[in-house]
Amino acid sequence: MSPLKVIIVGGGLSGACLANGILNRADDDGASPIDVTIYERGTEASSRGGYQIRLGAHALVGLRACLTERQYADCLRDLPRPLIQQGTIYTASSNAKMFAAAYLPDELRPSVGSTTAKGGLSNAEKPSDYDEDQASLFVAMAWVDGPSAVEASKVKDKKSLMRKMLQASGFHPDYLKLVDALDPQEIMAAPWRQSKADTPVDWRHSLLAASKTQSDPRIAHPWVWLLGDSMHAMLPYRGMGANQAIHDTADALGPLLELARKKNADGRVTDEEVRRQVAVYANAMIPRAFEWVRKSAAQGLPDLESFKGKIIIACVRVVLHVVGGFMGVLKMFGWKSTDDAPELP
Ligand SMILES: Cc1cc2nc3c(=O)[nH]c(=O)nc-3n(C[C@H](O)[C@H](O)[C@H](O)COP(=O)(O)OP(=O)(O)OC[C@H]3O[C@@H](n4cnc5c(N)ncnc54)[C@H](O)[C@@H]3O)c2cc1C
Repeated sequence: MSPLKVIIVGGGLSGACLANGILNRADDDGASPIDVTIYERGTEASSRGGYQIRLGAHALVGLRACLTERQYADCLRDLPRPLIQQGTIYTASSNAKMFAAAYLPDELRPSVGSTTAKGGLSNAEKPSDYDEDQASLFVAMAWVDGPSAVEASKVKDKKSLMRKMLQASGFHPDYLKLVDALDPQEIMAAPWRQSKADTPVDWRHSLLAASKTQSDPRIAHPWVWLLGDSMHAMLPYRGMGANQAIHDTADALGPLLELARKKNADGRVTDEEVRRQVAVYANAMIPRAFEWVRKSAAQGLPDLESFKGKIIIACVRVVLHVVGGFMGVLKMFGWKSTDDAPELP
């Protein structure tokens, strides 16, 4: 009897993790073989790097569910050590927002007798084990009035466009230095996408109810399961897209194995059974992941030059001072923060 067939479209974070889960867990009991194929559009070892992705407790749930103990240990061991994030900037005017972060190996220390301003690194000395390849600068900007992402992607000199947009949006000339430091080959333009924050758990049912034919196979087909960004694209402010995408694999794996057992026992699985299992997955995934879609959307800053922006900055300063002082007192009495992913470097 042929096993359940699963096709994964996209070998990114969630696709690759789920494929490993299926290879490792299907047929554990000899009763649920799965024939899995993964299709990836990108070329092998293509470089899409730049910004560090920070994995946390959510990602560990997915990795634990899908990897063998050995693979899990190897994966944690091989994760890059966190680099120090230096000089993170997040600022906004009414027309544009900018985020920038420089990641540096933690061995980088200002040289003795440095004359640079406090915290500056321009006069830092390089230790012998400093790895230039690990250091990176990430700069992102978005604007309201200006070329669309599609138009911007066609602009040859993207650095000039970025400079022009910063100047037109009233940013201080020093911000242009960040643009100057960029490698033109590494700049890309893409639209910011986020899913509808109020997507209901039974979105398939709602879509079908709203469709004229109610049987259009292109709408909410029960055999098409959505994981990661394809389901819950979110703004990057909370660093949760990858974490939620990998967590999805843990929620999808169980229902897939259940279908594989059914296929093996009965020789077939019906649309109704697939509908039931995809609902199990959705019930676990949607409330968890969409909470982060909402939180990530709420993280944006208003125009910091506006009255509202200035009030927010003043309040944040006060809160940081109060909370900082309070935490200092707690630490004096032996308090330690809890780490929800102590395995991670
Ligand atoms: C600048 C930036 C910073 C981020 N920082 C963080 C962070 O700190 N922490 C965090 O948790 N998340 C972060 N994210 C989000 C995170 O990268 C994504 O949420 C995560 O990669 C989504 O995983 P995924 O498996 O859904 O998709 P992806 O990892 O994007 O994988 C999708 C794959 O599908 C392939 N593909 C697409 N279409 C096709 C097709 N038609 N056929 C075949 N293959 C196809 C693509 O080539 C890709 O390999 C960041 C994102 C960006 C852009």
